[in-house]
Amino acid sequence: MAATVLDGKALAARVRGDLKLEVDRLVPQGITPGLAVVLVGDDPASQIYVRNKTTACAQAGIKTFDHRLPATTSTDELLKVVASLNADGRVDGILIQLPLPAGIDARRVLFSVDPRKDVDGIHPENVGRLLMGEPRFVACTPFGVMKLIEEARLPLAGANAVVVGRSNMVGKPMAALLLGADATVTVCHSKTRDLAATVGRADLLVAAVGRAEMIRGEWVKPGAVVIDVGINRTAEGKLLGDVEYAPAAARAAAITPVPGGVGPMTIAMLLANTVTAAKLRAAR
Ligand code: NAP
Repeated sequence: MAATVLDGKALAARVRGDLKLEVDRLVPQGITPGLAVVLVGDDPASQIYVRNKTTACAQAGIKTFDHRLPATTSTDELLKVVASLNADGRVDGILIQLPLPAGIDARRVLFSVDPRKDVDGIHPENVGRLLMGEPRFVACTPFGVMKLIEEARLPLAGANAVVVGRSNMVGKPMAALLLGADATVTVCHSKTRDLAATVGRADLLVAAVGRAEMIRGEWVKPGAVVIDVGINRTAEGKLLGDVEYAPAAARAAAITPVPGGVGPMTIAMLLANTVTAAKLRAAR
């Protein structure tokens, strides 16, 4: 039987529509969610990401504050910008587009963001809260993956979940969320022995590696749910996931496409975190 295709584009549109309704209710109460977007340098991919995020905010009624800084910006200069955004009452969320130019101490900058404005969910306080089962802001991509899994109605309690990739932005928070949902979680990485056998035991597979189609379709357990976070552009400009799509779809119960799966959910959850930040501020 062919796999159900988990349509992230449609789900993201629904989430964004619901958020717009929520913002429409908040604004008359004097709560207009605001997101500061900081882009340093002129990386073309980052410029596209920032444009997409800003457009999505505008559509949901979220105000954005754009900060474009030259690639020559120093760590201290960027820290000053973050400090002013931390203090700005109109700004509920701060997004620092990654990667930052090589000369900037990204760790210092990211750690300087007020954790109550860390809508990317990468500040240690928010990561720690997630691990302790008291999440506030969760990194947008794994948060979006959880929404897709809910949509697939996959019962997670006791399920074997395999996450391939252990980055701070994707793999690690993904594993924490799945553990919090009572899955039995295995995290794989570049030193994992016999990846094929581990993947083959997964009721739920989340691939976040960044290598086109490195997870072979034949490894996928029949009936598994496959979430492909990978975005890899070929020399011809085609986008491919980390999972070999067609043979994996032939075995899986449900699978996300690339593009149109996890990607749109990431932006939707950034908006969701920003609206949450605005509501938390109003409640303080
Ligand atoms: P990353 O920081 O480069 O991490 C990649 C992870 O994959 C690392 O943990 C690495 O292991 C592991 N890995 C590398 N080679 C491996 C192998 N042969 N076998 C098993 N594991 C291996 O990447 P990321 O930021 O997590 O992103 C992963 C992918 O998701 C990329 O394609 C990225 O573009 C995509 N992404 C998509 C979205 C979205 O919105 N859809 C958002 C974020 C990222 P080590 O730790 O041992 O090096």
